[in-house]
Amino acid sequence: MKFNFPIIIIDEDFRSENASGLGVRALAEAIQKEGLEVVGITNYGDLTSFAQQQSRASAFLLSIDDEEFGGGSVEENTSALKNVRSFVQEIRFKNADIPIFLYGETRTSRHIPNDILRELHGFIHMHEDTPEFVARHIIREAKSYLDTLAPPFFRALVGYAQDGSYSWHCPGHSGGVAFLKSPVGRMFHQFFGENMLRADVCNSVDELGQLLDHTGPVAASERNAARIFSCDHLFFVTNGTSTSNKIVWHSTVAPDDIVVVDRNCHKSILHAIMMTGAIPVFLMPTRNHFGIIGPIPLSEFQPESIQRKIDANPFIKNKSKKPRILTITQSTYDGVLYNVETLKKMLDGQIDTLHFDEAWLPHATFHDFYKDMHAIGPARPPGEKSMIFSTQSTHKMLAGLSQASQILIQNSTTRKLDRDCFNEAYMMHTSTSPQYAIIASCDVAAAMMEPPGGTALVEESLSEALDFRRAMRKVDEEWGADWWFKVWGPDFLAEEGSAAREDWMLNPSDRWHGFSDLAPGFNMLDPIKATIITPGLNVEGDFADSGIPAAIVTKYLAENGVVVEKTGLYSFFIMFTIGITKGRWNTMVTELQQFKDDYDNNQPLWRVLPEFVAKYPRYEKMGLRDLCEQIHGIYKLRDVARLTTEMYLSNMEPAMKPSDAFAKMAHGKIDRVSIDDLEGRITSVLLTPYPPGIPLLIPGERFNKTIVDYLKFARDFNHKFPGFENDIHGLVTNGENGESRYYVDCVRQK
Ligand SMILES: *Cc1c(COP(=O)(O)O)cnc(C)c1O
Repeated sequence: MKFNFPIIIIDEDFRSENASGLGVRALAEAIQKEGLEVVGITNYGDLTSFAQQQSRASAFLLSIDDEEFGGGSVEENTSALKNVRSFVQEIRFKNADIPIFLYGETRTSRHIPNDILRELHGFIHMHEDTPEFVARHIIREAKSYLDTLAPPFFRALVGYAQDGSYSWHCPGHSGGVAFLKSPVGRMFHQFFGENMLRADVCNSVDELGQLLDHTGPVAASERNAARIFSCDHLFFVTNGTSTSNKIVWHSTVAPDDIVVVDRNCHKSILHAIMMTGAIPVFLMPTRNHFGIIGPIPLSEFQPESIQRKIDANPFIKNKSKKPRILTITQSTYDGVLYNVETLKKMLDGQIDTLHFDEAWLPHATFHDFYKDMHAIGPARPPGEKSMIFSTQSTHKMLAGLSQASQILIQNSTTRKLDRDCFNEAYMMHTSTSPQYAIIASCDVAAAMMEPPGGTALVEESLSEALDFRRAMRKVDEEWGADWWFKVWGPDFLAEEGSAAREDWMLNPSDRWHGFSDLAPGFNMLDPIKATIITPGLNVEGDFADSGIPAAIVTKYLAENGVVVEKTGLYSFFIMFTIGITKGRWNTMVTELQQFKDDYDNNQPLWRVLPEFVAKYPRYEKMGLRDLCEQIHGIYKLRDVARLTTEMYLSNMEPAMKPSDAFAKMAHGKIDRVSIDDLEGRITSVLLTPYPPGIPLLIPGERFNKTIVDYLKFARDFNHKFPGFENDIHGLVTNGENGESRYYVDCVRQK
């Protein structure tokens, strides 16, 4: 495979008809003759703007004989040197290894201070050697740099896809050839391209190693990632963190074990409870009236508090049995983090395994901003008795393909992971035909994060996120006298510069967050997770006279090509992943301004939401503000903010073990109960409303009045506002005579 990484030459004379122009072009030609591409840049000004080329280049050559170094007065030289220095520093901030050469005709290394010289791969004095000789010297360095880039598995896969061997093994498309025999197959082939299909191989290719046994290049890659992520063991998972979570659980939890679980965890954890037959006790997070989930208070983690829950649980026979695992969502869906060192101190030895579901947090270990606010990282002390697990969705915040995920493990000083035992659980949940492109993306996503490059990427996410917040405030100041969107976060926002930790801590005395029961230093907001608040509801849960439900804003954005991560009642959520660009967030700001304009003018919906109106003509004549007022009116009338907050905080009585209740469904011993008759019944399925996508009731729990009220509200609302339906997983719906009927599968009553 020939990768395309040009050598970049920066020289004011690159296109000039003078001696130095001829010289540098002769060098460029000599490089091209050896088969490498050259990009020539004639620079007039700030060199740092070229530093971002570090990701596409194989080497930099910078002339220092240019005009700016010309006359040679001391001051002139100082400013030119400053320029060179910032150029070199800017590159080294992101890239420790790319070769940088300076070259000159009259100037020599003597003119360059040592702090610059030591970052260079060479100083070339043009006229002393032939262009061919100089070219070969540069090419050698460029090639040996490129050779270090590919991590082990990706390297092996590229090699395999290239070497043109005939395969008799699956997959049946045989490197893509099958597709070429059919017209639609050819379309597929042309779309995805030869390499994706050549690299789609199966596990009988020995030279690539085995994911399920962790051998060969796969194992080398996992070790490489373990080093980069500073953990004792790291396992790639190709079926998402949903699967990583189940693996971790099955490696340590057996039927009737006690498990301590974040009530607002991802549904895969609840599935793990159902699969393992564990008995959960739940830790209750706080919530504010925006619907934002806050942290679990520190007091909930106290061993005495956990013991009280164990004592109160009707299914736990042996009350002194130690809980097997604690699982919490580290970075809640809205970006709230916990201080892991505080938790380790409190729980070490009390619970055998401390598991942090860091689906949204794989970036944290690469930046000091997050120190101690994530599970495992450099210079973090092991627990004495408890092992630490982290599960991370490489595909959510880093550059993994969908479903790329990883499990990180830190041994304790007295307990080490038994890899063979662990692997039994790993294999239980892993396909015997893993997708090799996903493994390669796990490998590459990890290699990309190697400092300093990874740290620079996180720094960039943080600084773009702060700039976005600043831009939103500026619009507010200049244009938002009547109303404007707010970005949820601390009142104080530094006017410039990078994020300072203290500014983002959740202090008990602050009001912006709307949470009570906070412990100092225990929680922080991750600035790269931005919840945008629409007008209509304040943090106390009081409705204003008019308001703008978030679902309408996000529909508007979607029709303009801006798709957000998650929509709540009066808030929606976006993230600044390492793929963020200035263009993306600036477009968000301008689209929101467009929305404001259209809202203020009550533009007709056929004009501003044409696709939506085509689907639902009943809204055709309505104005944008009219629609907001109508939906806001219903929310206000039914006090929906309070309802959705309270239903999550309401008392959920466990009437059966989750796995027993789910088993009733497998055996068909269920009733399909209309929501009007639900109160008091035991659900055998998981009930998850979207938004917020957090499971509300789990198998074995009884429906209370608050939850039933919410379901009835959802039914009414969905009937009144088609196109804005609340989606509730676990609900069975069917319509007769235009009436929707809503059911939940409940455990059969005798
Ligand atoms: C998304 C998510 C998961 C599941 O991850 P996938 O990679 O989508 O399977 C698990 N936990 C949390 C907290 C998540 O947000």
